[in-house]
Amino acid sequence: MSPHGFFGKVLIVDLSRGRIENHSLPPAIYRQVLGGYGLGARLLYDWMPPHADPLGPDNVLGFIPGLLTGAGVLFGGRFMVVGKSPLTGGWGDANCGGHFGPVLRSAGLDGLFFTGVSEEPVYLVIDGDEVALKDASHLWGLETVETEQRLKEDVGRGAEVVSIGPAGESRSLIAAIITDGGRAAARSGLAAVMGAKRLKAVVVRGRERLPIRDKEALTRLSREYGRIFQRDPSPLSPLLFRLTKTLAPLLRLLRIKPSGPVDAIIHLYRKYGTSGATALTTEVGDAPIWNWRGVAARDFPLSRSVRISDEAVIEHKLRSYGCRYCPVRCGGIVGVDGGSSGAVEEAHKPEYETLAAFGPLLLNDDLEAIVKINTLCDRFGLDTISTGVTVAFAIECAEHGLIDGALGDGLTLSWGNAEAIVELVGRIARRDGIGDVLADGVKRAAERIGGGAEDFAMHAGGQELPMHDARYEPALGLAYMVDATPGRHNTANSGFLDSPGFRHVLEAKGLSSSGRYAYHKKGRELALINRYLQVVNCAGLCMFSLMMGRPPVREWLNAATGWELSLQELLRIGHRVQVLRHLFNLREGIGVGDISLPSRASGRSPLDKGPLRGVSLDMEAMKRDYFQAMGYSEDGAPTRDLLDSLGLTGIAPGGSPHSAL
Ligand code: SF4
Repeated sequence: MSPHGFFGKVLIVDLSRGRIENHSLPPAIYRQVLGGYGLGARLLYDWMPPHADPLGPDNVLGFIPGLLTGAGVLFGGRFMVVGKSPLTGGWGDANCGGHFGPVLRSAGLDGLFFTGVSEEPVYLVIDGDEVALKDASHLWGLETVETEQRLKEDVGRGAEVVSIGPAGESRSLIAAIITDGGRAAARSGLAAVMGAKRLKAVVVRGRERLPIRDKEALTRLSREYGRIFQRDPSPLSPLLFRLTKTLAPLLRLLRIKPSGPVDAIIHLYRKYGTSGATALTTEVGDAPIWNWRGVAARDFPLSRSVRISDEAVIEHKLRSYGCRYCPVRCGGIVGVDGGSSGAVEEAHKPEYETLAAFGPLLLNDDLEAIVKINTLCDRFGLDTISTGVTVAFAIECAEHGLIDGALGDGLTLSWGNAEAIVELVGRIARRDGIGDVLADGVKRAAERIGGGAEDFAMHAGGQELPMHDARYEPALGLAYMVDATPGRHNTANSGFLDSPGFRHVLEAKGLSSSGRYAYHKKGRELALINRYLQVVNCAGLCMFSLMMGRPPVREWLNAATGWELSLQELLRIGHRVQVLRHLFNLREGIGVGDISLPSRASGRSPLDKGPLRGVSLDMEAMKRDYFQAMGYSEDGAPTRDLLDSLGLTGIAPGGSPHSAL
């Protein structure tokens, strides 16, 4: 019987030789690891030689939809990019929405991989059965939005594009791969890998349908789950949100984590997207302030954070935007007059991570400047998280006299100076002057600047930390250290522990989420949410769905493939994916417990005020608990028994992408 739920085929493009090959995968591999990160980790462990230069020909860069991407299920539109990260030197992956993933799938592919390095800039066209590498010299140097427009015009209706901008071309290690004019596969520095391979873009149009085992069941499951999105929003939802915001200072004092009923969450996402959370999260201690040394009430009070949050943001909204198959459409297109930073006619709405990275982190409340910066980052192809953290680092260096005079290029870098921040982001994007020193992120910049600059560099293992304070969410802080892509917030986000979409997993394991600072239990909580999130990601679903009722993840997978996966087996798949990502790093000489957090992030010098006052994380206790829950030895290595039980004992490193699996 022919397979269901996947095509069993990936495309491998050797850029050095200009060779393109279809490659069949054995059906069993999908049941082991699904798609996305899992399929990427499984294949790259085989295909990439140890210690490959991340910017050299041996790095393999993969674009991989989730297993349900393109199947038509709600929230099922995501794809992932994988490769060796030039930022961390280890496993790299990034997750992205938009429309590219489903369209790649409609080309009859479960993944697309690039090896080698092209001598000249090229782009790949996949238009149904026609696949070709083409000269990209006319596109090299263009911003992402123009690149996308031109390629869509060339190929025609239905085409979708991923591309890099000038930042990726110049191999900035904080560059991002962009699709849909503003959706980013931003983390792990994989746009620099694309730039090093001289691969400007991929444009795809497809006509194939994913074979589904039980379409009726798939549709019925989506219809039943989708009812919650058809309900009229309760009149109480906006009220509840306003009340929560008004009570934010009280929540801060009582150290209470804001949450709400599903209807209110859906309303919040539909109306504001993640921008709705900015003021609240800043006030309660979740958003890092003043490069992780600030306290909201003192340094960035509610009166300032509301200027870059919810209502203030959507005041500029021109229309809503959503990824394919999304019943919520949390994104938006905005326009601003711009004031001193210049007008932006139409651009993607900045989301929470961007607002926080260029807001409280920099003591900046100029929303129009943040919209301008977000647009710059989308167009030049930069990761807004890493760029914001790098700007914070630069300002603190300037404060201590480490960036001044010639190095500072005449810029007056100071906290909250929106005009200078916009200018600096432009210089980073163009590698112009001081921008060149900063364009590879804070770790490299600190090494170049010296003089103790490392103290201001907020990264884990080379990757800039996201906008969730480890002292507020300790298990997430643990994830920043022990995940295979350190400094990530969405491969193992412990914030989903209490979500309705995860509750059944906790219950099945007889667990309930513990107190925020119960360090001895944080490792097992992280290991469990991590396994389930790997499944959600590798299935190609948006993780926000977990906050909106219970998406039938397992049932969808079974209907699409004809498998009969139990929850237990699903969690084993998630476990396997996480172990594979770790195995990649171990082979590179990066141990699971090797990475530490900057002292500010772990609270080694605790804050003296605010909701995080006195918090000093017990990292060792959390790590011990995590290793035990993962089945690792005391020093963080997967044991032989674990590898046997996950069927990973015999995976063979060092093969070639062109050799049979
Ligand atoms: S909730 Fe937002 S990020 Fe998730 S699929 Fe919908 S539009 Fe995309």
